[in-house]
Amino acid sequence: MSDYEYHSSYRSSRRSGAAGRHTGSSREARRRARRRRAVLRLSLLVIAAAALVFLLVALLNKYHIEMSRPEEDAVEVAYGEEFKMPEVTALYKGSLLHRRGTPVEVRRTGTVDTSKPGTYELVWTAEHRNIKGTCKLTVNVVDKTSPVITLNGTDVLFLTQNGQDTDPGVTAVDEIDGDLTAQVKVGGNVDITKAGQYQRTYTVSDTSGNEITVAREVRVVVGEVDPEGRVIYLTFDDGPGPYTQQLLDILDKYNVKVTFFVTDQFPKYRDMIAEEAKRGHTVAIHSQTHDFATIYKSTDAYFQDLDAMNEIIKAQTGEYANIVRFPGGGSNTVSRHYKVGIMTELAQMLEEKGFKYADWNVDSDDAGSARTSDTVYENVTRLCKGRKASVVLQHDIKQFSVEAVERIIQWGQENGYRFLPMDQTSPMAHHKINN
Ligand SMILES: [Zn+2]
Repeated sequence: MSDYEYHSSYRSSRRSGAAGRHTGSSREARRRARRRRAVLRLSLLVIAAAALVFLLVALLNKYHIEMSRPEEDAVEVAYGEEFKMPEVTALYKGSLLHRRGTPVEVRRTGTVDTSKPGTYELVWTAEHRNIKGTCKLTVNVVDKTSPVITLNGTDVLFLTQNGQDTDPGVTAVDEIDGDLTAQVKVGGNVDITKAGQYQRTYTVSDTSGNEITVAREVRVVVGEVDPEGRVIYLTFDDGPGPYTQQLLDILDKYNVKVTFFVTDQFPKYRDMIAEEAKRGHTVAIHSQTHDFATIYKSTDAYFQDLDAMNEIIKAQTGEYANIVRFPGGGSNTVSRHYKVGIMTELAQMLEEKGFKYADWNVDSDDAGSARTSDTVYENVTRLCKGRKASVVLQHDIKQFSVEAVERIIQWGQENGYRFLPMDQTSPMAHHKINN
């Protein structure tokens, strides 16, 4: 039996029962009514409170558009490179309610043209029920490539002291700005009133600020200038010896590079071979023994001597030499005493083995009748004058010859000559082979 049934049956039994107990039962009914009212009031209060909370939540719930924005506010793209447009999406969502959100269409304004340097603004917007979302990205298309400057004329410009500055100029081109030749600024330290070696610089910037500078060597010389420039290859045989160090220091003073045809006649000075290479000179093979009777008795004997010398060179410089000069030169006739025809054979064999052999076309005669620095200087300058490519023979084991070098260099630099070390492409100034 439920409570309700119990109360109903109780009530009916009371009604059918004694009337004398009426007063007590009406008090009971009043109490029950009171309790019902209390329950009702409480229920209303709870409902009101719940409504209030809901109202508050609804009032506090703010809707907004959430946009997936690009990672950065501004990006840089190199001119000509591809720009990848970022994907931007938007959600309409509430802060308290509807928090998963609803996707909203996104519209973009602005484009990026990477073929034109500049600043591009991209704006993405989304709108739903009067709520707007927006995000921005600045794209800077930048030119990072410098203009190109090309020298007109030769790398080395020869000018006559106190004469006209006949600089042929340069051409400057930028892939975006086009021809910038007119904007090129010329700098450097050229003093046309004073013979010497100078640098002239040419500088230009494009509109994006990429700067480039190229330099040209300028030689201010005394007297007429050969427009092509003439070259002197100073070469020194039979060392290293006691005067090699002195010679290296003179060459350094003028930043002149030469060629040493080395021997092992003075093993005490072997480490000078390393020093020659270290200072930028060419180390070439002359002979280990420099003994004609030994090396010219057979081709085997010659190459045994040459290989031994080349091993010493390798040990000193880390590299084998590939230029050779015969003791006595290619035209020597002394070798006939030891083996007929050997020079012809050796010249061919050297070429076959990948060597080049050099003779000379300017003889200082320091191994002949020249006995003083003055004579060496006079011989060399007289024979170099007007010659396009001079290969000068000197010996760094002769002090008077070493002491002529400074004046020879000064004369050459003042008169428009370049001093170069030999390599396999240099003129070899071959003599006529006589054996
Ligand atoms: Zn020699």
